[in-house]
Amino acid sequence: MKYGILGDIHSNLSALEAVLNCMESEDVGRLVSVGDVVGYGAAPKQCIDILRQREAVVVMGNHDAACAGVIDTLYFNRFARTAVRWTQSALSAEECNWLKSLPMRVDLPSCAVAHGTYARPDLFNYVRKASDADNSLQELTLPVCFVGHTHVPVTLLRLKDDPLRTALLVGEDLDLSDASRALVNVGSVGQPRDEDPRAAYAIYDGETARVEIKRVAYDIERESHRIREAGLPSVLADRLHLGV
Ligand code: ZN
Repeated sequence: MKYGILGDIHSNLSALEAVLNCMESEDVGRLVSVGDVVGYGAAPKQCIDILRQREAVVVMGNHDAACAGVIDTLYFNRFARTAVRWTQSALSAEECNWLKSLPMRVDLPSCAVAHGTYARPDLFNYVRKASDADNSLQELTLPVCFVGHTHVPVTLLRLKDDPLRTALLVGEDLDLSDASRALVNVGSVGQPRDEDPRAAYAIYDGETARVEIKRVAYDIERESHRIREAGLPSVLADRLHLGV
């Protein structure tokens, strides 16, 4: 089966719609979100609605957790904190409860999903370098785990013939058939931070162990207008144009 993997969406409706449009031709059997459905952007209700309608598998991100009141915003910067408060006021109690009910990690038939790390998803740690992935690769029983959180695409893996060393892999077309375990960050749908403002997503083929990271241009102007209209900090609109 093919999985459509959605990195951090962050209430960016235009980006989510553009990604789902592209996926139409991909024969995706299951939609997966690595969390941070909400926060930063101005369309939290619409994004939640789309994922629920499509019965996506969704794990809890730190912004989802903060908006649902599960964690404090102590470690959030002031723009993120403002967006959390705004999102809380925009969502219904039922939508907040849905966020609250999201699991920290999920094991699917051919891949796992978590937001920060697989080993301790509740800590929302960042995976940027090999050592950040060690515990997760150790604990993982499935061949691959999709994560988000940094908004930067990167893959950390252990090869079947070198199972103790964690290697870093960068690229858009990843053949994981030689890997025993892999942690894949597919980048972000709604707030890319690798200086490419296009929305990022991935298609994972569970049978061939191939991951394709794809980018799609979307109407950034429309979405940044929505953010300004909502009264959210304008920096959250500006950064979308820069991909930071
Ligand atoms: Zn995020």
